[in-house]
Parts: sequence; structure tokens; C-alpha cells
Amino acid sequence: MESVRTDFYLDGRWVRAAGGEPLAVHNPTTEEVIGTVPAGTAEDVDRAVAAARAAFEGWAATDPADRAAHLDRLHAALTARTKDIAHTVASELGTPLKVATRVQTGLPLTVLRSYVDLAAHPPAPQTVGNSLVVREPVGVVGAITPWNYPLHQIVAKLAPALAAGCTLVLKPSELTPLTAYLLFDAIDEAGLPPGVVNLVTGTGPVVGEALAGHPDVDLVSFTGSTATGRRITHLAADRIARVSLELGGKSANVILDDADLASAVKVGVGNAFLNSGQTCTAWTRMLVHRDRYDEALDLAAKATDGYRLGDPFDPATRLGPLVSAAQRDRVRDHIARGLADGGRLVAGGPDAPVPQQGWFVAPTVIADVDSDSALAQEEIFGPVLAVIPVDDDDHAVRVANNSRYGLAGAVWSGDEERALRVARRLRTGAVDINGAPFNPLAPFGGYKQSGLGRELGVHGLEEFCEVKAIQR
Ligand code: NAD
Repeated sequence: MESVRTDFYLDGRWVRAAGGEPLAVHNPTTEEVIGTVPAGTAEDVDRAVAAARAAFEGWAATDPADRAAHLDRLHAALTARTKDIAHTVASELGTPLKVATRVQTGLPLTVLRSYVDLAAHPPAPQTVGNSLVVREPVGVVGAITPWNYPLHQIVAKLAPALAAGCTLVLKPSELTPLTAYLLFDAIDEAGLPPGVVNLVTGTGPVVGEALAGHPDVDLVSFTGSTATGRRITHLAADRIARVSLELGGKSANVILDDADLASAVKVGVGNAFLNSGQTCTAWTRMLVHRDRYDEALDLAAKATDGYRLGDPFDPATRLGPLVSAAQRDRVRDHIARGLADGGRLVAGGPDAPVPQQGWFVAPTVIADVDSDSALAQEEIFGPVLAVIPVDDDDHAVRVANNSRYGLAGAVWSGDEERALRVARRLRTGAVDINGAPFNPLAPFGGYKQSGLGRELGVHGLEEFCEVKAIQR
């Protein structure tokens, strides 16, 4: 069924977009067009920013309890759309329905709930000597988001921005905009004050650049590739606007010699292949102590065999396609280059069978990867795991840190103190020890070229605040 969306959401209502060729949205499993959305212009961005600016003073002055009540109503309206959202993500992105429900829909609802609480109970002002230190909303936020977690990436910006008292203009990814429309249906139903949140769809070079470079946007909050993050930072620099950036990753899963190898490899492979590897935090480098290396490769090959590719709506499917033909081709090129650079194929690879229709890549494990090679250095954003042998803890830390990225990572050891010592030495924004669960209240963000700033929890709220010192 085609979903034809013709409007932007501006100043609290749906507004028909002026002419222009709409953007087609594809289903990556069937390769068919499943919908269209309008391609916005710089003038549309002007209107959206003007609405957000006009709403700012009133929203910033709203009582925290009222802001929390608005977010609570949004949470209810979004929860009522759980099934629709999961189906839309499965259709426009290809995530298997179970993961689309549990992760792609469940996680943003959890995050939104956490900001209902934080909006109601914001961090108290601090007293520093004779100063009262208060936090105030930064102003109008321009939010630009990617396609890989199409609802979560938006909610991780919109919820803390609104909780802090900011107003916002969103430009979602042109590859997965239909999920964003469902969120704005919920926003409309929840009755947020006009102008507090606004939606303009379109391409990065037109709508994204107009938003990032807009003189009346105080903070650009971006999630996406490092190349685009760099461009956005340049655009914002002209007016010294603030930017927060959640960018790429090439995270290391460090498996020490005393680890529970079966768990470490099984969870590690699952993490690398989640969402067909289109996950910025994916542990795409597995670093294994030499004494356990061959055993780990056997386990990784067996685990990979269990990943059945197919239709996201088939309950037996564990991996869907990649989001686009271009992404599929990029990932295939990376695999070919990794093998040409001396990597040894352990599972999957260029000749492994994939469904005839759809933009699929077989889950692939490549061993003996040189830590300086492209396969170990580039973010691939597909189901490709590079395995690298290491000699001891020091060597593991050196290899793990041999990256321009630093977003996530893992350490496995039978000795938790040893794992903690290694975790502390990793130059990365998050480390999970022995498969510890994701914490949606913990700060999320990157070292080095993985980004600037933090999302989620109280740290995520603070990204949307200015700090004021009042002396008395
Ligand atoms: P992308 O950078 O191509 O696009 C992200 C968004 O930026 C899209 O909305 C796009 O339209 C827009 N955009 C593109 N060019 C622009 C420009 N010149 N000016 C302004 N906006 C522009 O990234 P993508 O392909 O959508 O997403 C994949 C990348 O995102 C991967 O590299 C991945 O690691 C990264 N990512 C990071 C995180 C994180 O939290 N760190 C999360 C998800 C994805």
C-alpha cells in the first residue's frame, strides 16, 4: 500500500507543500516504491524556523510539569501507533518485524518516557560560592537524522529538546521519512502548542544545509555520517552556532583469554549484525586473544550460519536487506577489498546465496584482518565482521584504540576487575562488560571522530541547555 504524504508540519498544523517533484520512498526487500514525501526548499525551512522561533519564548516559560504533561500525551499517542511504526520501519528500512517492534519502536518509547520524568524533575540549580548556576533552554534546534533507527534517532533529540524548553525543526532522512510522519501524526494528536515542533522533509544538500546554515537556529543536533557532520559543523561555524554530533563508529569487541568464549562470540556476532549491521555502535571489530582465536572463528562461523536472510515480515527471518542498492554495493565493495587486502573468509562473502530480489548482503566474517587495513578502519554499515588476533591486554588496547572513531565497545573476561581495567583504557564513549545490557539513561556519544556531545538521560538534556551564573 502506498503512503502518499503531501504536507509539512508547520506551526501546529499540516501545510500542503508547494509543487516540486516529490521524493520516492522504497521498500528495500521488494525494491518497490511504497510512498512519496515532499521535497522541501530553503523557503520551507525559513517558515519552519520562524514558527519555532515564535513559539520559543512561550514554551521555554512553560512550567516543567506542563511540559512533562505534553510529553506524556505524546508518549500515549505514539504508544497507540506501536504496530504501525514497527510495520513502517520493516517496510521502509527492512528491519525484521520482531526487531522493528522491540528495538526500533520499544527503545524510543522508553527514551521518551525517561524525558517525561526529566521534564517534570529537571536537575536543580547549583550553588557555587556566591553564584547560582542555572540551566536555560538553548533556543531553536535544527535536528537532522539518519535512516538506520528512524524513530529512535529523532526521539533522542526531540524529547530532551522539548523537556529542556527548546523548540525544534526536524529534517528526517529522505530514505525513511514515513516513520517520521507517524511521529508527527502523534504530535498533532497530542496537541503540542503550535510551532514547538515542525517537520520539513527533503534532501540533505537542500533542506539539511538550509537548516544547518540558518541564522536563527541556535543548535544543530545531527546524527549521521562523519562526512556530513563535518559539513554541518562548517555551516554552523559561520555564526558560532552550537552543534552536537552523533557520527560513525568502528567499535572493538575485546575478548580476553579468560572470557566465556561461547557467550562473547555469540553476543558479539549478534551485535555486529543487528539491523543488518546498520548500527553506529556495532562491534564490527572482534579482537580475540591468540590462544582462543581458532576456537572463536569456529564459533563465529557457526553463529553466522544461523542468520537467515529474508522478508522482514517472515518470523523466521533474522536479517533483512540493506536500506538501498547504493548501500548494498558499497558493502560488497568493502568485502571484496577486505579479501584482496589479505583477509581470510570465514563465513558469508561475495558468493554466499542471498534472495534474488531485494538489497541483501550475506552476513560475512573475515579473519586475519590487518588493523591498519580499510576493513578495520572504515565504517562499513553492513553485516561484516572483521576478526583480529591479539597477543595480550596491552596489545588488545592498542589495536582497539587504532581507530579514528570511538563510539562503543565491549570487553569480555572471567575477571571483572581485569575487564574494567581494559575498559577504562579504551578511547571510546561506551563499553559493555560481559554483555551488560544497554542503559537508556546512560550518556551516549563518541570520542574522536564519532562525535561531539552526549545524548540520552540527564547528559542528553544538558546538551539542549545554556548555563548561566548569577552572582549575589
Ligand atoms: P548521512 O550523513 O548521509 O545523512 C544523515 C542525515 O543528514 C540525513 O537526513 C541526510 O539527508 C542529511 N544530510 C546529508 N547531507 C547533508 C548536508 N550536506 N547538509 C545537511 N544535512 C545533510 O548519514 P546516513 O547515511 O543517513 O546514516 C548513516 C551514517 O550515520 C553512518 O555513518 C552511521 O554511523 C551514522 N550514524 C551515527 C549514529 C550515532 O548515534 N553516532 C547513529 C546512526 C547513524
